[in-house]
Amino acid sequence: MRFIEALKLRSKLLFLFILVTLGLILVSIMGAINMNAMKKNIDSLYFGSLVPVTELNDILQIYNGELPSIIYKAKSDDISSSQISSQINNSIEIIEKKWKSYQGHFKRDEELQYVEYVFLEITSINEYFSKIVKLSEKGTVLKNISSDILEKKILHIHTIIKKLIKYEVDIAKYERKKFLYSYNAIIKEVAFILFVVIFGILVISFYVFKSIQSDQTKLEISTKKLKLANKKLENASYTDSLTSLHNRRYFNFIYDKELKRAKRENKFITYMMLDIDFFKQYNDTYGHIEGDYALKSVAKVLQDLLKRPSDYVFRLGGEEFGVLLSDTDEKNSSLIAQNICDSVRAREIKHEGSKVNEFLTISVGVVCCIADQSLNEEYLITRADEMLYEAKNSGRDKYLLTTDVSKFKEVA
Ligand code: GH3
Ligand code: MG
Ligand code: MG
Repeated sequence: MRFIEALKLRSKLLFLFILVTLGLILVSIMGAINMNAMKKNIDSLYFGSLVPVTELNDILQIYNGELPSIIYKAKSDDISSSQISSQINNSIEIIEKKWKSYQGHFKRDEELQYVEYVFLEITSINEYFSKIVKLSEKGTVLKNISSDILEKKILHIHTIIKKLIKYEVDIAKYERKKFLYSYNAIIKEVAFILFVVIFGILVISFYVFKSIQSDQTKLEISTKKLKLANKKLENASYTDSLTSLHNRRYFNFIYDKELKRAKRENKFITYMMLDIDFFKQYNDTYGHIEGDYALKSVAKVLQDLLKRPSDYVFRLGGEEFGVLLSDTDEKNSSLIAQNICDSVRAREIKHEGSKVNEFLTISVGVVCCIADQSLNEEYLITRADEMLYEAKNSGRDKYLLTTDVSKFKEVA
């Protein structure tokens, strides 16, 4: 069944369709052949035995009934000479017709001789009756016709025709038995072939469906893997490879969303811009690789401090970071900013090139306000940048916060 597995889904379904169609055609052909065979059997029973027996019985009827009755009437002078000749001739004519028809049916070799004998006997008795007709036509008195001879002749022909009828009936019985036997054999044969065809179709269908099912499972697994890969790719495209923080791309996406939400709900929004102090000197003193480690350490501090699901930390580029907080008032924003400065310093990352501290420090520009519809989108960024600049200029290792948004609000 490997070749089924190798087929594509559409080909599998087509294969199944062709299989079922061929199965149905095969069963129909078999049904038609057997029906035809049965029809032939019934025909041979009907025309080979039943009709001939009826014809022989009709002949017998005439010999037993009509002809003797005419002769007796003639003997007792009950009917006229013309009636005698017409009735006898008519009876003989019917007998000859029926015999001719009987002889027309299929005859077995073994019965041909006896049929010939019966024919001769019928011819002989018919001649006897024809003689009586001739005597009657000549005007001879018929009462002297011997009843004895008549009865003997009738009995004789009766016996031989009866024997022929018995033979035909026996043949009919034999044919019926043969037919029933062959009918049973046909039924068994048809049932067997039907079983084989249906079983074959079921087995192959089972394999096709199993294969389709396995394809489906494989497809589902691939889809899941693909979704996972897409998710990973999306995460990667939103992640900074050095610090594993969100990158600027993600900032652009989230900043817009969070600002809109805060505006909608009229809630606090806080944006911080962070920049490492004298980082150029740090690189110059310790080298770029150490510089990268320092960046990772600062990122770790930020990640550890800001754990709420609504807190976002970004590496915006170089040694600059961004923090976006929602629903955090001025007091709490100040606390967090101070905490960031203290925590970075507390990491005690040696920084000999710094002019403000023996350890690595950070300056933060913070803007915190209640977002309303008039708040300009660029405003938070510009204001935070200004605050950062001021923090740098006023000694570094500190944060500066503003809540003043008035001059940046759009004029309605
Ligand atoms: P200030 O206190 O005024 O911010 O001084 P600064 O030296 O930090 O200022 P500046 O912005 O001029 O210097 C930033 C330096 O950060 C320049 C560059 O050497 C360093 N830097 C930027 N990106 C990376 C990075 O990915 N790895 C490392 N190791 N250093 C970086
Ligand atoms: Mg900088
Ligand atoms: Mg700097």
